[in-house]
Amino acid sequence: MLNIGCHLSISGGYAKMGQTAAKINANTFAFFTRNPRGGSRSVPDPADMEALRLFLIEKAFAPLVAHAPYTLNLCSDKENIREYAEQVMTEDLRLLDALPGNYYNFHPGCHMRQGTEAGIRMISDALNRIMQPERKTVMLLETMAGKGSEVGGTFEELRAILNRLELEDRFGVCLDTCHIFDAGYDIVGHLEDVLDEFERVIGMDKLLAIHLNDSKNPIGSHKDRHEKIGKGEIGLDALAAVITHPSLRKLPFILETPNELDGYAEEIALLRRIYEPGRHQPASASGSPADPAAHLAEHDAGDESHRQTGGDRQ
Ligand code: FE
Ligand code: ZN
Ligand code: FE
Repeated sequence: MLNIGCHLSISGGYAKMGQTAAKINANTFAFFTRNPRGGSRSVPDPADMEALRLFLIEKAFAPLVAHAPYTLNLCSDKENIREYAEQVMTEDLRLLDALPGNYYNFHPGCHMRQGTEAGIRMISDALNRIMQPERKTVMLLETMAGKGSEVGGTFEELRAILNRLELEDRFGVCLDTCHIFDAGYDIVGHLEDVLDEFERVIGMDKLLAIHLNDSKNPIGSHKDRHEKIGKGEIGLDALAAVITHPSLRKLPFILETPNELDGYAEEIALLRRIYEPGRHQPASASGSPADPAAHLAEHDAGDESHRQTGGDRQ
């Protein structure tokens, strides 16, 4: 079965996210542990987190991919910003002990003209303080588009961070299809070569999750603008090749496309049909009124925080 889900709002609590995911036929999902643009969060209810933990087991969900606020910067040129990022990630990771066995994905950081090497050193030093042996969550470095001074726009930079980690086995990589395409990796024309390069530089054993996004911009543009599945420069055929690739097909796939919940339900239904063509109607029948996921998702379409994050989800 394809493991797929999307970003969900945490505004209704943890258990609610599980129910919403099930409603749109997702079996994994992503969420921000707090407001993605700020850092504040209300204290979560342990019973609510426990209810989600049990729900995920009951429904046999694939690992969740929680997302750190994307404003955090572990390699800022300002010490207070670095310390704040470290503090938030430390708190989030402790919080996620209540949901053991899932992932916590984050953007490595922006070096702010200090240079990539300085950035790599600051990021890895911070991660060595953040990750402790008793933690129950694997942290995922996200592949970045190479926008501005972003660290992580090449596989080599991610490998350099991993090489400096004391508990390297507690870290993996989340590959974002929009980001690597923007960074110049040709997953449209040469997916096999890109994966060979990932294997050679990072190692496929480190690839633990995929952000499945189309891109508004052509390859190598370093812009980081996500597009709906099949509506961008990557296109449906290339994304279909990603979800069905023998080395990738068992991973959790997270949609971060500019959609509300009903749009996500449609993308999930479409990708499930492509993944298991024998068990569903052919893709040409998409949009049929009998599509159960699309129908069930209808009344959740106005989700508050989805409007907040809009098409800027990263
Ligand atoms: Fe991200
Ligand atoms: Zn992005
Ligand atoms: Fe992403």
